[in-house]
Amino acid sequence: MKKDDCIFCKLANGDIPTRIIYDDDEFAVFMDAAPASKGHALVVPKDHYCCLFEIPEEKAAKAIKIAKKVAEKMKEELNIDGLNIVQNNGEVAGQTVFHYHMHVIPRYKADDNNGVIKWNQHEYDDATMDELQKKLTF
Ligand code: 5GP
Ligand code: ZN
Repeated sequence: MKKDDCIFCKLANGDIPTRIIYDDDEFAVFMDAAPASKGHALVVPKDHYCCLFEIPEEKAAKAIKIAKKVAEKMKEELNIDGLNIVQNNGEVAGQTVFHYHMHVIPRYKADDNNGVIKWNQHEYDDATMDELQKKLTF
């Protein structure tokens, strides 16, 4: 299903032109309009899902398969030094476009923003860690 007012629905389905590098029945991959680095691409399903919590499991599995192919292509063509796969869910996690997408970001030693994907490290007490482990074990 597409969502009428969603920019990524339009871009992935070819209703608005963009720099597509891969296209099949279910997914498009296009270049990010404000790239973190040379080659930054987005793996985007053609149907609308807000995020990881809505996308069906098989489709999420396909997204990572395609991301791997994109990554291999970047390695082959761009002389990259590393690569991040990033997938944000929710505003607090940095999501700005609320149509599921996976970032594939090639990294270069010479770039100005190396290490930009990072967070503050915390230390929680054992009781807290025990409780978290208990809650999250499945
Ligand atoms: P998010 O922050 O939601 O994880 O990532 C959204 C990404 O979409 C950003 O990196 C942003 O630059 C990119 N983006 C937003 N609007 C457009 C657009 O109209 N075209 C393309 N190609 N990328 C877009
Ligand atoms: Zn959409």
